[in-house]
Amino acid sequence: MDKRFENKAFEAQAVKKWQEQGTYKREQHEGPVWSIDTPPPTVSGNLHIGHIFSYTQTDILARYKRMNGYSVFYPFGFDDNGLPTERYIEKKCKTNAHAIGRPAFIELCLKETKEAEERFKHLWQRMGLSVDWDACYSTISDSTRKTAQASFIELVKKGYIYRKHEPALYCTTCRTSVAQAELDDLNVPSTFNDIVFKDEDGNDLIIGTTRPELLPSCVAVFYHPDDERYQHLAGKKAIVPIFGQEVPLLPDDMVLKEKGTGLVMCCTFGDKTDILWFKKHKLPYKQSVGFDGKWLEHTGALAGLKVHAAREKVLELLKDANLLLVQKPLEHAVSVHERCKKEIEFVMLAQWFLNVLDHKQAFLDAAEQINWYPSFMKARYIDWVKNLGWDWCLSRQRYYGIPFPVWHVEGTDDYLLPPLDALPIDPQETAYPGEVPAQFKGKNLVPDTDVMDTWNTSSITPYLCYQLFSGADTVDFASEQVASFLPMSMRPQAHDIIRTWAFYTIVKTWMHNKQIPWSDIVISGHVLADSKEKLSKSKGQKMMSPEELLERYPADAIRYWTASGNLGHDVAFSDNQLKIGTRLITKLWNAFRFIKEHITDLQHEAPEELGLINQWLLHEITQTFSTYQTYLEKNEFGLALQAAEQFFWHSFCDNYLELIKDQLFNPDSYDAATICATRWTLHHVGLRILQIFSAYMPFVTESIFALVYAQGETDSLHKTKYAAEQVPFAFAEQAALMQHILKIIAAVRKLKTQQQLSLKVELERLALHTDDQALLDALRAHEQLIKGATRAMHITYSAELAQEHQLKADGDQWRACIALQLD
Ligand SMILES: [Zn+2]
Repeated sequence: MDKRFENKAFEAQAVKKWQEQGTYKREQHEGPVWSIDTPPPTVSGNLHIGHIFSYTQTDILARYKRMNGYSVFYPFGFDDNGLPTERYIEKKCKTNAHAIGRPAFIELCLKETKEAEERFKHLWQRMGLSVDWDACYSTISDSTRKTAQASFIELVKKGYIYRKHEPALYCTTCRTSVAQAELDDLNVPSTFNDIVFKDEDGNDLIIGTTRPELLPSCVAVFYHPDDERYQHLAGKKAIVPIFGQEVPLLPDDMVLKEKGTGLVMCCTFGDKTDILWFKKHKLPYKQSVGFDGKWLEHTGALAGLKVHAAREKVLELLKDANLLLVQKPLEHAVSVHERCKKEIEFVMLAQWFLNVLDHKQAFLDAAEQINWYPSFMKARYIDWVKNLGWDWCLSRQRYYGIPFPVWHVEGTDDYLLPPLDALPIDPQETAYPGEVPAQFKGKNLVPDTDVMDTWNTSSITPYLCYQLFSGADTVDFASEQVASFLPMSMRPQAHDIIRTWAFYTIVKTWMHNKQIPWSDIVISGHVLADSKEKLSKSKGQKMMSPEELLERYPADAIRYWTASGNLGHDVAFSDNQLKIGTRLITKLWNAFRFIKEHITDLQHEAPEELGLINQWLLHEITQTFSTYQTYLEKNEFGLALQAAEQFFWHSFCDNYLELIKDQLFNPDSYDAATICATRWTLHHVGLRILQIFSAYMPFVTESIFALVYAQGETDSLHKTKYAAEQVPFAFAEQAALMQHILKIIAAVRKLKTQQQLSLKVELERLALHTDDQALLDALRAHEQLIKGATRAMHITYSAELAQEHQLKADGDQWRACIALQLD
């Protein structure tokens, strides 16, 4: 073994070997299937450190399961069909779909995403993800489009998807409708404006509003039915200032009497209450804001302006006309589109909706059947489901995405769906492929021009995984094969997409199969910049680039950092953790360099007599491994790593290797059986150490394995199983005695260090004090061991208790006294 672990060379070698030999293909591993619903990353922009953080955590669990005897199915996917990708391409290529047209834009997207995906894949391979890269889907591929469209058609037929001309949440910046799950709340400063309307008799009606720019959309004025101030208004009309339209004055008990003047205008649409009133009172729809965010022609003075300019303009007009009484500044929460942070508007659109509101209870029940790690994340899901107020709007007015396989019969609400064998299909490019029913013959068929919400595809990832698993070209949702593939074993994902990805997947799987999508959901946190380190922006970004990090640190050290967090919690980026990880790599390398020659040519039969030190070490590794497994069964990879590290640094390196060093260097001073027992123990414990660290540090452990244990070129640590190597050792009594001896050794070391003596300094006498006679006898039986480790010439055993540890000089001789009852 070289003096140093040259990580770059070993990493490149290992990536090549694993890929060529298909080390991580599920077919290469026997056992029950354990399947992962890998998050398909959104192909947009650059890779950041978050991309390696959570994916590595999943890989740790996958590697653990594989070594634990499962045939792990670890596919991968790329989400490259949605709005984020479209925005990314627009920005990168400085163009947009409106400018270059739909076909050219889609072509550009396909080319650009292909390149980005290769970069993504390359990075993850360098990070050592044990993904089967041959089992890979893309959400824009023909196969995915086919499955997404088939899912749509099936859910239309089952009655879960409906089409409606409905007020929809709309982002005028991204020019598309959005779902409730895509909204964020943002606190913004605004003003509450008291504006003068008139009644039919010319009397003032004061109305407070934060959205005066919607006056052209005003369709009614409401007051509370019990409000004595306004009973006389019943049946009358109000006149909207500036714009002059007459609107009905109506009572409604949703009005808050105490708020403002108790009079409220209803516009189509300023908020959700407006939508409720619009429906309840059958009010007309008067759209002010266009799909491009500009005020429409009929709004007169406001035409062509965007929301803030329109607001300023109307306030100016009102002020000039003395119709603006008071302006009170306030800060309030508005709904913004999570992607662009721009305020959401409501417009009427004919769109596809998935009925989720009627089935909330089923989605709540599903959550109870799934294991949530960490468990508190379930509450977030439940809150979200309970508070849902909208059905899921599936339609997006974009270009790059999966089209709805629908042709509308012009002038009617009827539409036609294609036969499944015609999928995937783009209705804007193809004529309706089926037999047109007699009643629609001769009518004009108009293709649906919208594309599906990207989550509509992401939410069927278990079915996309099924396709990769089974090799099936199409998904027959009702088939026995699909039903038995579900639930998958694990869904890893981040906490911010519980309301979208987790929720929608649960919804879809329930609607298609009445099943849960996965048994376990494992939720990771995010990466935060280190709060302690104030990084300048440019430096900070550089630190955050995964490629840059891989130049500076071994991949194993970066993986080590990703395991340092608690499951589900955000983790600060930490140079320090990377350094600690690097030290661990070096320590592993050095420890095996130290023992290599003693364990390579080993006879494998277990020795008859192990001896106390070996019994203790075997007992310790058995205990450690059991703790490690217990944590990993709960997906607590951070705690499992701590247990492994504690054993390796402390028990193995600090104590065991120190104690047996002499045997390795001076074998002739020991009998052959002792040397044989030690080498046998080193061999077995060494392999187990490599196994438990292999999930975290696959490169250095594989490299060591190849040099120390491998039988041939194709032999890989990552194909070994825990069980095959498992020899459970229970030497509780011996281990307890050894703990006492280790305490004595540690106490002597500490005393020597305090007096600034070399640890090699001989003790003329070591006095051991305890009133535990049995312990004294046991220690006496291992006098040679204690003498060797403490460099004591003579040991005395006393049943008298001592008050403290002591080390005193007597002439030029040193005498130590150890009180065993002290801890
Ligand atoms: Zn937007």
